[in-house]
Amino acid sequence: MYDVEQVRADFPILARTIYNKYPLVYLDNGATTQKPRQVVEAMTEEYYNVNANVHRGVHFLSQQATELHEASRETVRKFVGAASTREIIFTRGTTESINLVAACFPFRKGDEVIVSEMEHHSNIVSWQLQERRGVKLRVIPITDEGELCLDAYASLFNEHTRLVSVAHVSNVLGTVNPVKTLVDMAHDHGVPILIDGAQSAPHMAVDVQALGCDFFAFSGHKVYGPTGVGVLYGREEWLDRLSPYMGGGEMIKNVSFERTTFNELPFKFEAGTPDYVATTGLARAIDYVQALGMDQIEAHERDLTQYAMEQMMLVPEMHIYGPKQHHDAVVSFRVGNIHPLDMGTLLDRLGIAIRTGHHCAEPLMHRLGTEGTCRASFGLYNTRAEVDALVKAIDRVRGMF
Ligand code: PLP
Repeated sequence: MYDVEQVRADFPILARTIYNKYPLVYLDNGATTQKPRQVVEAMTEEYYNVNANVHRGVHFLSQQATELHEASRETVRKFVGAASTREIIFTRGTTESINLVAACFPFRKGDEVIVSEMEHHSNIVSWQLQERRGVKLRVIPITDEGELCLDAYASLFNEHTRLVSVAHVSNVLGTVNPVKTLVDMAHDHGVPILIDGAQSAPHMAVDVQALGCDFFAFSGHKVYGPTGVGVLYGREEWLDRLSPYMGGGEMIKNVSFERTTFNELPFKFEAGTPDYVATTGLARAIDYVQALGMDQIEAHERDLTQYAMEQMMLVPEMHIYGPKQHHDAVVSFRVGNIHPLDMGTLLDRLGIAIRTGHHCAEPLMHRLGTEGTCRASFGLYNTRAEVDALVKAIDRVRGMF
């Protein structure tokens, strides 16, 4: 039995009052999630009692900090189902994870990377930056319902295709992409595939080996963990083929002016002092969601999203973007001609936090024929009562125009 009220008690911020008047209704979880006490307290405890730089020290604290940091890597490994901790690279977030692969992949002039029309800018611009190496982007179009056109995907492969990079779940449409099919089709052409899991890792169980993907990226702060830490999973055979990302301490074996050699995986990609307190926070966040059960969380959020879509459709002039099926915990909408910024600002005045604008997905906005949308995104602590508050507030705002 999923006890959402008990869950909410772990998140002090949810008890806040907005503008001294309205209880906070936080529906911007796609942007970032709130943090349970367990995460914040573990990080405070580490700063108070353990803090020391990792990997380099012979002293007690350094060894303890290193043990915590490496235990966090093991927690992440289990969370995504990787075969080895050598395949778990700590980064600053999804954006850095994708940039790492883009910058280090052995591209040659004329190589092509396939992305989709529904990608977040971080899964577009990272590859565009490789245009200086002669890399070209090919784009999978989407249907009017907001699903990938799989026939078009199949037709994009040719002898120049080097990599595919697509979102597991769209941060705007909530579309859950058929990752296994995308992976199988890429592999049929001998092409590796990166999955942007920023919007899937917080909402569903992920098993990278079952999915068969070659790379998987996600952000700690969207999984109830701290900011500043994220993960790149990479299959060892692919990580071995990538050149190092940044140079510095940790990522080297020996340095001389004649010849520098690099550290083994995963350290080859982790130059400099890692945010070892944040990795502890991320591990506690993973412990937290796993104690609740990813399947339970998914069921709770699916129910909430379905309920939200049904209730929102009762508002006159409501338009909801994205598929009816395969829809995850994100609902993008517009009401009549009300500008999303006006809707977002007025909802905020009623204590409701949503996001408005292009959601870092401008090409998708062009495809949808809108300059922006309103987006309500749900997390494990949201309730049906909050959905009711949202719907009532949207209707009230509509009445003002
Ligand atoms: N990819 C998707 C699908 C996202 O939703 C986001 C963030 O909203 C990102 C990538 C970038 O994540 P971050 O800013 O944590 O690096």
